[in-house]
Amino acid sequence: MGQRSERTLLRNARVLTCTGDPHEAPFDGEVLVEGDRIAAVGAGSLGVDEAGARVVDLRGATVLPALADCHVHTSWPLDFVFDHGAEAAAPPAEHALDLAAVARTFLESGYTLVVGAGVLQPDDDLLLQRFVDGGLLPGPRIVPSGLMVADARGLGADGGLMEVASDAAGLREIVARQCDAGVKALKLFISGDGVVPEHPSEDVYMDDAMLSAAVEEADRHGAFITVHARSAPSVAMAARTGVRLIHHACFLDDDAVAALEARGPDVWVCPGLHYLWAMVSGHAEPWGITREQVEASGYPHELEAQVEGLGRLRQAGVPIVAGGDFGHQWTRHGTYAAELERYVELVGMSPTEAIHTATRNVGPLVGLDWGQMRPGALADLLVVDGEPAKDVSVLRDPDRRVAVVKDGAFAHVHPARFP
Ligand SMILES: [Zn+2]
Repeated sequence: MGQRSERTLLRNARVLTCTGDPHEAPFDGEVLVEGDRIAAVGAGSLGVDEAGARVVDLRGATVLPALADCHVHTSWPLDFVFDHGAEAAAPPAEHALDLAAVARTFLESGYTLVVGAGVLQPDDDLLLQRFVDGGLLPGPRIVPSGLMVADARGLGADGGLMEVASDAAGLREIVARQCDAGVKALKLFISGDGVVPEHPSEDVYMDDAMLSAAVEEADRHGAFITVHARSAPSVAMAARTGVRLIHHACFLDDDAVAALEARGPDVWVCPGLHYLWAMVSGHAEPWGITREQVEASGYPHELEAQVEGLGRLRQAGVPIVAGGDFGHQWTRHGTYAAELERYVELVGMSPTEAIHTATRNVGPLVGLDWGQMRPGALADLLVVDGEPAKDVSVLRDPDRRVAVVKDGAFAHVHPARFP
């Protein structure tokens, strides 16, 4: 992430700033990038001296902040089919190359920031972060996770794929150890998941003492706690104990919503709505996940509950961030923006509001001036042919992806489309 002195002027652009208005429409204008930051954004001409800048004509394409996914398993390779054990035991060299391919796929899909949601080999996110930040591999900024952490009574307690904690002291020790290794987003399992019949989504694991200890320890290390929490009581527990990022939150009750509301803009919910929708829509059937299994998992009911819950969260002003367990063959790597389509279709967000969940809502979560086009913000940008503020599905179309800018530099350009 070198500080460069170059200036790049993007002209003839449709600019979608994502600075706040959920009904923002793009305007015709220019963007000036200096080093790794946005220097100026404006309608019409910025009046920049072209002699001192690289001028790039976007020919009417839309420029918006680059996107983020806040629930990412880098360990799931491009050809992943639900076999976590095989990936955990994969030969390290092959696994490392799979990681590199995943990182490149995120970047080329317009995603320059990902938050880890648990890995299958302990250093996956950390290694990837080191190589990407060192300029050795193309990829997004990575907020690294480590191995997931299970409760001794809960999902993952067999210890095959997760670390296991049975009390607050044990959990604190695991959190401290992962943080010392460089992990910034700790992933704890505090509810079940309908896809594992003996651990239904309604279950709650861990307790207030354990979560409070984990939050305190992560905080001490400049890291934060994220949780897999599908049941309402698990969401309420996470909210009242200071967990920063709550994944799924499929079931909500008045307690859970009140606990989230009480946190103000200091807790984020990452639903993974597209994944549920794809499962319920039968998209996993070709890979052996039968309709009967999906019914038995309770996912159809869970999808309805989640859509209703997202409506309540929007009403309560709880920030929602996009992310969605992408990497299964039925929710392939590279289709990350499908999550935003579900927010529009099922939850009723405007396209721009849906885009906010992958841009402006994410900056404060990860402590970066990121995800908005305004002077001083990090210059991570996405250039697309089309009008994402009208039709968010253009973000998922590789042929419309003209360019991706990261840290003020062109990190990916469409080989055929870039001027
Ligand atoms: Zn996940």
